[in-house]
Amino acid sequence: MARPARITILGGGPAGLAVGYYARKKGIPFTLYEAGDRIGGNCITLEKGGFLFDSGAHRLHDQDPEVTGELQRLLGEDLQEIFVPSHIYHRGKFIDFPLSPLNLVKNLGSFFFVGAALDLARSRLRPGKPDGSFRQYALRTYGKKITDLFLKDYSGKLWGASWDRLSAEVAGKRLKGLNLRTFVTEALFGRRAKTKHLDGSFYYPKKGIGAISEALAEQAGKENIRTGSTVTKIFHDYKVIRAVELNGREVIDTGEVVSSLPLNLFTRILEPQPSAELLGLAQGLRYRNMILAAFFLNRESVSKSATVYFTDSEIPFTRFYEPRNRSRLMSPPGKTSLVVEFPCQPEDPVWNLEPDQMVEEVRSPLLRVGLFQEEEIIDTAVHKINQAYPILELGYEEKLEKIFTFLRGFGNLRLTGRNGRFVYAWIHDMIRFGREIVEEYEPEN
Ligand SMILES: Cc1cc2nc3c(=O)[nH]c(=O)nc-3n(C[C@H](O)[C@H](O)[C@H](O)COP(=O)(O)OP(=O)(O)OC[C@H]3O[C@@H](n4cnc5c(N)ncnc54)[C@H](O)[C@@H]3O)c2cc1C
Repeated sequence: MARPARITILGGGPAGLAVGYYARKKGIPFTLYEAGDRIGGNCITLEKGGFLFDSGAHRLHDQDPEVTGELQRLLGEDLQEIFVPSHIYHRGKFIDFPLSPLNLVKNLGSFFFVGAALDLARSRLRPGKPDGSFRQYALRTYGKKITDLFLKDYSGKLWGASWDRLSAEVAGKRLKGLNLRTFVTEALFGRRAKTKHLDGSFYYPKKGIGAISEALAEQAGKENIRTGSTVTKIFHDYKVIRAVELNGREVIDTGEVVSSLPLNLFTRILEPQPSAELLGLAQGLRYRNMILAAFFLNRESVSKSATVYFTDSEIPFTRFYEPRNRSRLMSPPGKTSLVVEFPCQPEDPVWNLEPDQMVEEVRSPLLRVGLFQEEEIIDTAVHKINQAYPILELGYEEKLEKIFTFLRGFGNLRLTGRNGRFVYAWIHDMIRFGREIVEEYEPEN
């Protein structure tokens, strides 16, 4: 493909920033338009009263050696490889995650252990015909006992959809993070089955995950990035994207366009509008919102975990993380914090709660877990994440394919990003997507 004169990048999360980063490296001019007043999207670090916390329990997975190497060069000693395991909270117990056979027997008893092993063996021997649902996938992969205990309620809380309406894809990508398969394998076959990721090893910047977005933006050149620029219309002639409207008033001609905007938004602001059928398909793609409630505490430490998962329905949130356990610099000396993740839909009443009300919603169940005392709370903060995850429901691939077929009609458009491609993907994927897109513009010799 011919080297473009200019790239117009929509959205300044890691996906958009990575395109800018690689474009700058190749000397291809670009302008990035970001709606917010800061870059980083859902990959930022927030600050309050000397406490730092990320927009969700982030870790950089060492899945793509090229990306890890690139980020090591960019961040230098600020990017540390750390080891912090996670746990599942279950009826007052903190179960090692991943489980060791000894820990499983200790916490759940040998009766449960043997039952789970038999269930798993049964589901392997009689796998049945796949129907593509997460329910069936989970039962076949982990057996009934384990799924009933750790997956059924948890997936309802996380996705807001019943597990038989979810695509098995949610397990393939997301649950690799939880990795119950390995957890079960380990429980049954011993510690030799442990994987590096599940052992709790990952990369993490000393002052929070936002340092990755900052470093990408710095190297891309901040003069090429326009914050406070909401794309409100995308003008096209069905073959080419011609221009974008910013903040409802300014119109900018585009060259090549790379969009990381959520797919439903992108199609909605196309001008002229696509067919009602296509709009309907795009608006039918659902995303999950997330509310973070942070508790800043006057005590040194609460847990030894990177993340603690709450798999039953008695606790309304899915997990919390203790930023200090990722890096000591995330809390002032002698203090710590917990950040609770509370997934929801935009139409759920909880999404519109005032910050104080949200803190109330989370405080009692959190105190019930019994990890700290109410009087140790110094302060709190609430952060809302719109469209945190795409919800991969049964049949979403067919909808996507029709939308992509339409969008492929625009010769100068590339899509990137988690919501832009409606895909479960991580920071390292965002960076790889950026590299691949720029390489397409100018292949290596
Ligand atoms: C709770 C949580 C935990 C996570 N944990 C991990 C983890 O452990 N490891 C990992 O690798 N990844 C993790 N991720 C994923 C990671 O944060 C995302 O992959 C990444 O942020 C997606 O990048 P993106 O650029 O596609 O989208 P975003 O970060 O969402 O950025 C999109 C940007 O587009 C902007 N935008 C939207 N509309 C407009 C508009 N109309 N005009 C202009 N700009 C617009 C937004 O303001 C935003 O800045 C997590 C995400 C969440 C939410």
